[in-house]
Amino acid sequence: TVRVRFAPSPTGFLHLGGLRTALYNYIFAKKHQGSFILRLEDTDQSRLVPGAAENIEDMLEWAGIPPDESPRRGGPAGPYHQSQRLRLELLKKEALRSRQTPRYDNRCRNLSQAQVAQKLAKDPKPAIRFRLEEAVPAFQDLVYGWTQHEVASVEGDPVILKSDGFPTYHLACVVDDHHMGISHVLRGSEWLVSTSKHLLLYQALGWQPPQFAHLPLLLNRDGSKLSKRQGDIFLEHFAATGFLPEALLDIITNCGSGFAENQMGRTLPELITQFDLTRITCHSALLDLEKLPEFNRLHLRRLVSSETQRPQLVQKLQGLVKEAFRSELQDRGVLDPAYMERILLLRQGHISRLQDLVSPVYSYLWTRPAVHRAELGDISEKVDVIAKRLLGLLERPGLSLTQDVVNRELKKLSEGLEGTKHSSVMKLLRMALSGQLQGPPVAEMMVSLGPKEVRERIQKVLS
Ligand code: GLU
Repeated sequence: TVRVRFAPSPTGFLHLGGLRTALYNYIFAKKHQGSFILRLEDTDQSRLVPGAAENIEDMLEWAGIPPDESPRRGGPAGPYHQSQRLRLELLKKEALRSRQTPRYDNRCRNLSQAQVAQKLAKDPKPAIRFRLEEAVPAFQDLVYGWTQHEVASVEGDPVILKSDGFPTYHLACVVDDHHMGISHVLRGSEWLVSTSKHLLLYQALGWQPPQFAHLPLLLNRDGSKLSKRQGDIFLEHFAATGFLPEALLDIITNCGSGFAENQMGRTLPELITQFDLTRITCHSALLDLEKLPEFNRLHLRRLVSSETQRPQLVQKLQGLVKEAFRSELQDRGVLDPAYMERILLLRQGHISRLQDLVSPVYSYLWTRPAVHRAELGDISEKVDVIAKRLLGLLERPGLSLTQDVVNRELKKLSEGLEGTKHSSVMKLLRMALSGQLQGPPVAEMMVSLGPKEVRERIQKVLS
């Protein structure tokens, strides 16, 4: 059975790079009816960031890829906080048993038992090192192919248990992966070199290693590191600014790895069916975040079109409108779900985030403008005639207000007015409806507001 894990250190909040590693693990697990496990690697107590552990789990849930087993959810293979496995006596015993002389840097790796005892008497809290074998096993990485790193000659013997009693990453990761029954380790390629050490540890402990697949780095479009960016790669930031998790999952799987082709608009179930681990290449994946609004627009549109998803969006939009226009909201039913729904259906495709609907260009949807008669008079002296004709038009039986109809009828209206330019008519109506000289097309405003509200705004001009 497939069991995979996402094993972040809670030294920071979840960002796009972490999300991508988590997502590939999730997809791989679901594709093979396996389990996706969240393990928090918190043994370096000095680097823990308050709130990071909660944030990581919250954001995985927000993203729609919740773990099957985790610190919060529990599960049969706990503890899911790495530091809590300290209690397993096993760890210390296994580590110690694995080598006769595991507690030295290379300088004193060959001390006799007697010398060891002597040193221990002086220093009862030693750090423990792992003596690396010269013969490093090669392994078949599922992405990078045959891999072997001469770790022994390059680096010294690594510390595996620190003097504070905490294991370092290498030992903790191997022990946890073994005890959690991890079948495949999908992790960032920065860990590729460490894998040789891990395999030596597996060998020493007499355990069967999992299979490894190292994921190429996710970089900015210009090849720089994601972490060089400011706060704008954290999931929290995207959630707070109205980006949809679906859009994030889509954009990070569209950087050229793991799928037959790049294709915008895939949903999680589609990602699961189309994912193919053998298609992950060793090239870094370049992320173009400038395209995110485009991805978001696509997914927003899909959600708006779905009868089951739409009510949730209506609710969110209500919240946004209340927040943005709290004091200016007159009681004219703008918070009415039916009105909200109509606006969503009309404007989907033109907006990339729900938030866009409360930006100044769209304020006419939610608040009535204060328009002064004098301002209108400056635009055209035929204010009354134009207003009356428009009211007449709105009265016409069987009129269905679409943008095409409105544009056609307004053209006719202008043509019927000797000496008045069509552009002045439009300018006048835009001012009457929105209180602004510039803004959305008049036809769009009329269709969005609906005949009743248009009538009321125009009548005010006459009064
Ligand atoms: N704790 C490591 C990290 O923060 C996990 C590496 C691994 O997946 O083995 O990336």
